[in-house]
Amino acid sequence: MINDNKKPKAKKPKFNPYWIYGGIIVIFLAMQILGGSGFQDTKQTTPSQFMAFLQDGDIEKVEIVNRREAKVYLTKEAEQKEIHKNSKPTSLLPSATKLPNYTFEFGDLQNFEDEIATIINAQNLDPKPKIEYKTEQNLWGDFLIGLLPFILLIGVWIFIMRRMSSGAGGGAGGQIFNIGKSKAKLFDENDEVKTSFKDVAGLEGAKEEVQEIVDFLKNPEKYTSLGGKIPKGALLVGPPGTGKTLLARAVAGEAKVPFFSLSGSDFVEMFVGVGASRVRDLFKQAKEKSPSIIFIDEIDAIGRARGKSNFSGSNDERENTLNQLLTEMDGFGTNSNVIVLAATNRADVLDKALMRAGRFDRQIFVDLPDVRERKEIFEVHLRPLKKAKDLDLDFLSKQTPGFSGADIANVCNEAALIAARNGKKAVDKQDFLDAVDRIVGGLEKKNKIITPDEKKAIAYHEAGHATVSWMLEHAAPLVKVTIVPRGRSLGAAWYLPEERLIVRPEQMLDEMCAALGGRAAEKVIFNKISTGALSDLEKVTKQARAMVTIYGLSDKVGNLTYYDSSGQSEYGFTKPYSEQTAELIDKEISDIIEEQYERAVNLLELHKDKLTQLAEVLLEKEVIFKDNLEKIFGKRPFDKSEEINKTEKTSDEEE
Ligand code: ADP
Repeated sequence: MINDNKKPKAKKPKFNPYWIYGGIIVIFLAMQILGGSGFQDTKQTTPSQFMAFLQDGDIEKVEIVNRREAKVYLTKEAEQKEIHKNSKPTSLLPSATKLPNYTFEFGDLQNFEDEIATIINAQNLDPKPKIEYKTEQNLWGDFLIGLLPFILLIGVWIFIMRRMSSGAGGGAGGQIFNIGKSKAKLFDENDEVKTSFKDVAGLEGAKEEVQEIVDFLKNPEKYTSLGGKIPKGALLVGPPGTGKTLLARAVAGEAKVPFFSLSGSDFVEMFVGVGASRVRDLFKQAKEKSPSIIFIDEIDAIGRARGKSNFSGSNDERENTLNQLLTEMDGFGTNSNVIVLAATNRADVLDKALMRAGRFDRQIFVDLPDVRERKEIFEVHLRPLKKAKDLDLDFLSKQTPGFSGADIANVCNEAALIAARNGKKAVDKQDFLDAVDRIVGGLEKKNKIITPDEKKAIAYHEAGHATVSWMLEHAAPLVKVTIVPRGRSLGAAWYLPEERLIVRPEQMLDEMCAALGGRAAEKVIFNKISTGALSDLEKVTKQARAMVTIYGLSDKVGNLTYYDSSGQSEYGFTKPYSEQTAELIDKEISDIIEEQYERAVNLLELHKDKLTQLAEVLLEKEVIFKDNLEKIFGKRPFDKSEEINKTEKTSDEEE
């Protein structure tokens, strides 16, 4: 993936302005090292040697610099002497003035002056050597020291700017001045997006629709020649992990048009007004490169329904962003050949204005895969694995009802890891089953301490679920029962519920009865109940409440519902019914549940021997399947087709 702002990689070395700074610094340093005054090289001497020269009358002038250093100039005659042969100063640059022959540091100035005066007087030198005082300044050094705070300040500033830019994700949105720029990633013909429609298994309908969008952009004339308009947007809706992002990635891989990808939360920043300006910028970029596709993942982050009342009184940033998106998608300006794809798993919370035709013309439902689709998804994800030869894909897809594509990808990976842990050469069926168990139930807790009494209670509880659901016509068919503790559950009965579009009251009641079968078994066998039925009770209570208050299935409360699909009453503090009705509702809920509990108890009393038999098998084997139940109960009279879409599990949680 390549960011829009990155230039194509040019290999030749480019001129870099930093080189100038580097050069200047090198020159400064060189000047400092070589000495400030003309790059000269003067011979060093010592005070005692100097005194000897003075006595000999060789000195013409002594320059005392900065009260610390002496520069010695010889007379013309002295320069000719053998002893001073090497004292001729050398200089890199031609100098107009005479250069000193020697230099040295003398220590205390007063002493030095006294000594010179003594020698001059004693020797009675004529002409007397001149003594001059000078102050020399190192201009460059001072200049640099003066500049240092500024250099430091600028350095810190540059550092902070850099940090800010990398923190904001780099690219266009990077620098502080670019905060209003869109942060979308751009994929175009030059980028290698490896995903193609081949990698998306199942989802035929969705794939077809999305492929059509790609086709719109490739051959627009085909569609517009009859007067049709190309759709502006398509919304991918479905539960998490069903392959919405994967579909979009496949579009990017196959469309061969510029593809802008970003997530709904990329619009949001702590600054007000940024979201709207990012939307503007995104559409501007997309229009410049049209035909193009914009993909917004998790659009519910910005597309949530706008509130009617604004409690906080502040200018709502998210609403501004959404408004801008609405205008960009179907506003006054025309918007040619830019198709917006968006994905969400919360289509219900999206703003109506966003969903209307002309913006997201199409809603593509991406549902959980059925058996056949699961098999295809397994095929895709098994490709890279080393699997056992006799691996039965049909079996695997039957064992994974209710799994999303992401879950299946996870099962395949987990199975490979389990096989590797056991030192196997190939991944076999048992590894997959273990992986499924692990993903659904959590990690097996081998070292959980369970007393024999507790274990017996759990076994009867689960056997109760299994027995009751076996006996009831509308209860979901059983897959397996286990009393191996996993995650938070101590045991579980797994069902394969059939997918129903409408549910009848008797079906709901049968399911509730089966869910209460666990507690009923404890009552029938031990005449004691326990906290183990918590999750069953929770499920049953919710279901009963829904029957009475949502679906209008209770005779006494009648054909009314207190459900509000618009979600407007979310923050309402008042109940939409009177106190009397509230009492009635509570009574009805309690009656429904108690009735089903009685029913379960009666059923189990009737089949107590079989229940005991089943519980004993369960205690011995820990996991039992449908076949074991058939051995005890005989064939289930109500067995329907195996085509199932969802799994459900009643697990009995620890308190
Ligand atoms: P979401 O619908 O939440 O956007 P993703 O598209 O991110 O889900 O799917 C997550 C992963 O699940 C994908 O990377 C892929 O490995 C796997 N997956 C989901 N659906 C399918 C499918 N239909 N075919 C193949 N793999 C799938």
